[in-house]
Parts: sequence; C-alpha cells; structure tokens
Amino acid sequence: MKLVFIGPPGVGKGTYASALSKIYKIPHISTGEIFRDEIKRETKLGKKIRSYVEKGELVPDEIVIETVKKRLSEDDCKNGFILDGYPRTLQQAKALDEFIILDRVLNFVAPDEVIIERISGRRICSQCGAIYHVKFKPPKVPGICDICGGRLIQRKDDTPEVIKRRLDVYKKQFAPIIEYYKEKGLLLEVDARELADKVIPRVVDLLKNYGFYPKE
Ligand SMILES: [Zn+2]
Repeated sequence: MKLVFIGPPGVGKGTYASALSKIYKIPHISTGEIFRDEIKRETKLGKKIRSYVEKGELVPDEIVIETVKKRLSEDDCKNGFILDGYPRTLQQAKALDEFIILDRVLNFVAPDEVIIERISGRRICSQCGAIYHVKFKPPKVPGICDICGGRLIQRKDDTPEVIKRRLDVYKKQFAPIIEYYKEKGLLLEVDARELADKVIPRVVDLLKNYGFYPKE
C-alpha cells in the first residue's frame, strides 16, 4: 500500500501517519525527518539542505526529489509506505509518478477555525519539550509541566494570525497538487475535524473499501 498524506499544517497528518504506519506495518516516511536527520549527521546532503534552510529558502525540487527517491528505493518500502511532507510542488508530484505507482492519496481536511483552535491552544514545556493543549490536553496545574515541573510556553508562531497566514499559503500551494491527484482518481478526503483517536479508525475503515487491511 503506497500512500501519500496531504493536509494543512496542524491537521495532525504526522500523528495519523505514524499511527497508521504501525497498524499497516509500513514505514512512515517524513521528508522533514529525513532532512533533519541528514543535517544532524552532517552528511553532504545535510550540508546542502542546511544552506538553504539557513537562508530561509525552500530546498530545491531536484534535491527533495532525489532524497525521496533514494529513501523509497530502500528495502523496507517494498510493501508500501506512508509518505508525509512530499510532494510540496506539482513538479515533485509528477516526479514521484515516474518511479512509483501510488495506490491512494489521503487528503486530511478540517476547517480553518478548528486548526487555529488546535494550534493556538498548544503549550510546550520549556524544559522537557512535552506538548499540552489548554483544552484537549491540559496540564494538572495551568502553565506547569506534569512531567518535570517546567514552565509551559506558547511558540511564537502558534498565534491565530500566524496560523491563518500559513493556512492561506498552504491552500495556494497545494490547490494544484490536490487537483492533480483528483484528476488521476487517487484522492480520498478524510474529515480530520475530530481528535486522532476518531480520525485513525475512520482511515482504516475507508481503506478497507479499497482492499487495504491492517496487518496483524
Ligand atoms: Zn516538562
């Protein structure tokens, strides 16, 4: 089962991908993670990527495509994968089709207000990095980490205004990609308004309609 996950920032795509990767026993390929790992290990690729990131520029398509191609040709991807964070451009989507036949593309959707509430309520422990939510996962004592007692902070990008702007950028950027997969008949829409424990079983049910079942 070769899947691509698409969805706006804050829709929970990474969480779903990681949970479903366990359910189906296929790797969760996150391009963000690959890039961070390459940077950390200071590989040739990592150094190249870092130079773009440091300049605040997007990593060029050729580099992203080459990286993903290499990763998807590894043995553990033979029976399938969940690709998360790729494609980000129409060119990347077309390049993927040249070396992989995708089974489905899952498009996770939620109204802007839901995503804004989800992200702007997020609080992070300044000491251990644990993540809370003022409404969905509040700490026992407001503002204090349950685990280490550290002070909880809000990331400066997690304000409604910044999130709204990111959502608008996402929509513009992904409209042609979504259209592309729709035309190919690969796109499945998943309602991601609720929390992950509701969304994940919904995906499992949905994929059964296409002959994909969880692996025991
Ligand atoms: Zn903590």
